[in-house]
Amino acid sequence: MAAIEVKVPQLSESVSEATLIQWKKQAGEAVKRDEILVELETDKVTLEVPSPADGVLAKIVQPDGATVHADEVIAVVDTEGKASAAPAPSAAAPKPAPAPAAKPAPAPAAASVSTYGSAPASAPATTGGAPASAQADFDVIVIGSGPGGYIAAIRAAQLGKSVACIEEWKDPAGKPRLGGTCLNVGCIPSKALLASSEHFEQARHGLAEHGVQVKGVTLDLAQMIKRKAAIVDKFTGGVEFLFRKNKVTWIKGHGKLKGRRADGVIEVEANEGGAAKPYTARNVIVATGSKARHLPNVPVDNRIVADNEGALSFDSVPKKLAVIGAGVIGLELGSVWRRLGSEVTILEALPTFLGAVDESIAREAAKQFAKQGLTIHLGVNIGEVSTTAKGVSIAYKDKTGADQKLDADRLIVSIGRVPNTDDLGLDAVGLATDARGFIPVDDQCRTSTPGIYAIGDVVRGPMLAHKAEDEGVMVAEVIDGQKPHIDYNCIPWVIYTEPEIAWVGKTEAQLKAEGRAYRTGQFPMSANGRALGLGRPEGFVKMIADASTDELLGVHIISANASDLIAEGVAALEFKAASEDIGIISHPHPSLSEVMREAALAVQKRALNM
Ligand SMILES: Cc1cc2nc3c(=O)[nH]c(=O)nc-3n(C[C@H](O)[C@H](O)[C@H](O)COP(=O)(O)OP(=O)(O)OC[C@H]3O[C@@H](n4cnc5c(N)ncnc54)[C@H](O)[C@@H]3O)c2cc1C
Repeated sequence: MAAIEVKVPQLSESVSEATLIQWKKQAGEAVKRDEILVELETDKVTLEVPSPADGVLAKIVQPDGATVHADEVIAVVDTEGKASAAPAPSAAAPKPAPAPAAKPAPAPAAASVSTYGSAPASAPATTGGAPASAQADFDVIVIGSGPGGYIAAIRAAQLGKSVACIEEWKDPAGKPRLGGTCLNVGCIPSKALLASSEHFEQARHGLAEHGVQVKGVTLDLAQMIKRKAAIVDKFTGGVEFLFRKNKVTWIKGHGKLKGRRADGVIEVEANEGGAAKPYTARNVIVATGSKARHLPNVPVDNRIVADNEGALSFDSVPKKLAVIGAGVIGLELGSVWRRLGSEVTILEALPTFLGAVDESIAREAAKQFAKQGLTIHLGVNIGEVSTTAKGVSIAYKDKTGADQKLDADRLIVSIGRVPNTDDLGLDAVGLATDARGFIPVDDQCRTSTPGIYAIGDVVRGPMLAHKAEDEGVMVAEVIDGQKPHIDYNCIPWVIYTEPEIAWVGKTEAQLKAEGRAYRTGQFPMSANGRALGLGRPEGFVKMIADASTDELLGVHIISANASDLIAEGVAALEFKAASEDIGIISHPHPSLSEVMREAALAVQKRALNM
């Protein structure tokens, strides 16, 4: 047996003991390096102790509830042991693809007794990648420059690595661009159009109540699209600047994995216009993102039938607009064109509206959107979609099974996004996608091939730009030998409709399914002075807290500026705050944030302004 002791890490200068809260693994269970073994709690913090190596948890020395001290041995991991029982599946750590057959990873150095927290002196500077002594063009090559890739590249460069980023994106004029989906055809341009279309709607219908009479409001769509394009230009140019500043080499072209040398160096090829050039790196981060899912047999021409790219650049406002898919993108883009004058009908296959959102928020959203004139049909079954030069006709069965037809001038298909692994060469390095097309990774975005990581939309988890960014930072730090961690439960979600919808943590439905007792507190925007002053009284904030400890478990908002308000909820969940903590801290008056405080107080049935 090659045993590695698991010790209680140094806690802090003033804290020498901790309570062992819970073993996450049982004796005899297989464990992976850096997989969390046990949770400890001091009177200041909760901390997780990861496994120091791949192997089997041979022995648990201290049970749940024990008081333990810094440097005390609490378990032993056997790096050569065999698991006595199949480990329980872990939702957070998908099973990696099988290791490469042709080019196996070098065997790890023979294990000796060492402790977690201080790597042996001979350990390479990187975890998993080729050692610094191996000859390679770069420490890190990132494939893809979306928010995951470009942030990973910058963070790795900040940490002193030599970094290159391969990116194939070209704008409609054929100019190479950085920034990925988010900056070019996603978050940034959609929010620019949401803001412009909101101004248009306000100018037409929202200003009279403020005593501002505006006559003869007309739409200059070309200017609106030009403004959006200028913002995209500025931001993608900004990434170019950041690459120069951080000395990240931008390799233009299609990146492809070619193999893994015996010394662990990864071989990559970049191909621009047929000219393929080889590169090598000690580590590769795959950040190739996602692309719009299309309907089978319905070609997207981005004129009559559009995905997100086309729908951000229509050259005229369609009189009748059909949208297939009432998800985030369908609702946001549907809202843009409704505000600009389209009659919008959204067809959604699922029987429930916004199923991932807390039920009370989804109900309020449905009410608000119906009031605005968005028509949404749920539970439909899409049939034939036929296009002509002038429009589109969609046959579908409604939720009762009756045949229906929707004629429209244009159609936006927003039925989700698929991970992008086209011609990426995964098999050349022993990787394969899972059944849904994602690259399997562990909690720290390691693939099963040492030295290759994958982040962002191309791996499990929410397809959100800030999740991709967080993973980019994490992986760069893992490569640097650090021990970063992401709590995926604390990643916020936002839908930028009006009112906006934002949430973090658990919904009531999730907590019910977990059997966890909770209390809720809710406070309406209509009782907030600032919301009334702004003319935005719609919506509410709802907080969910543990029934016995009062720990905040979920924050759910539907209101103006919910995307900004949710940041307080994220901080609260990250710091494991109680609802009382939010209730007793000072919030500026008058501000929308006071509703956060009131909702927190409402958990204890002590809201002040209701
Ligand atoms: C309309 C729309 C609105 C959105 N709004 C929001 C929002 O408000 N907030 C939010 O959080 N998220 C939003 N998203 C989602 C967000 O854009 C994605 O989650 C995010 O872009 C994912 O980042 P990424 O780095 O994983 O990949 P991407 O941004 O998709 O970037 C991947 C990059 O990799 C490049 N690439 C792929 N394969 C190769 C290859 N083999 N060689 C070289 N380059 C390659 C691509 O060209 C691309 O530039 C929106 C998406 C859309 C479509």
